[in-house]
Amino acid sequence: MSDALSELAGEVRSCTRCPLSASRTKAVPGEGPPDAKVMLIGEAPGRNEDLQGRPFVGSAGTKLDSLLSAAGLQRDDVFVSNVAKCRPPENRRPTTAESDSCEPYLEREIEVLQPKLVVLLGDTALKRFFPEGELASAHGRLQKKGQSTFFSSYHPAAMIYNRELEKVIHADFRALGDILRRSSQLSLSEE
Ligand code: URA
Repeated sequence: MSDALSELAGEVRSCTRCPLSASRTKAVPGEGPPDAKVMLIGEAPGRNEDLQGRPFVGSAGTKLDSLLSAAGLQRDDVFVSNVAKCRPPENRRPTTAESDSCEPYLEREIEVLQPKLVVLLGDTALKRFFPEGELASAHGRLQKKGQSTFFSSYHPAAMIYNRELEKVIHADFRALGDILRRSSQLSLSEE
């Protein structure tokens, strides 16, 4: 990790900005190579992530790895983060106030990393960047906002009990792979 990302991760680990810091085991900063072109953003750590202090290491992480491989990517190629860096009790959604407390961390991760593409996983991540967005229409396609290009899909955990959604998410990630392969035309690659 770059110095800036390590410093940021240290701040996240000792953060007490919101009440989730009192119930967490470990905070979960974003993780991945500092030169990653693709950044993925989930919702919040689950039980395993809270215990290990690392993003997407539980069953959602296993699903994420299979989706990445459908896109021709590996975990080591991407930077993985979450809207909220601490686990909400009982895996509920983070509240708006909790997500707001974490927003400066997410913003700085993006600012330091300057990813060519930000992949939003699930409704919480989509709504953070596109408050009016709906996954039913936003999934599987690119959207520009400010300096960043976004691609959205459903959350990997959503496919654990829903076979139909599993097909949709896999199709989205295959489309993501196509987009990345054509990336020079979309100026997602290095100039
Ligand atoms: N779900 C998420 O959104 N993030 C994680 O890190 C794990 C599960």
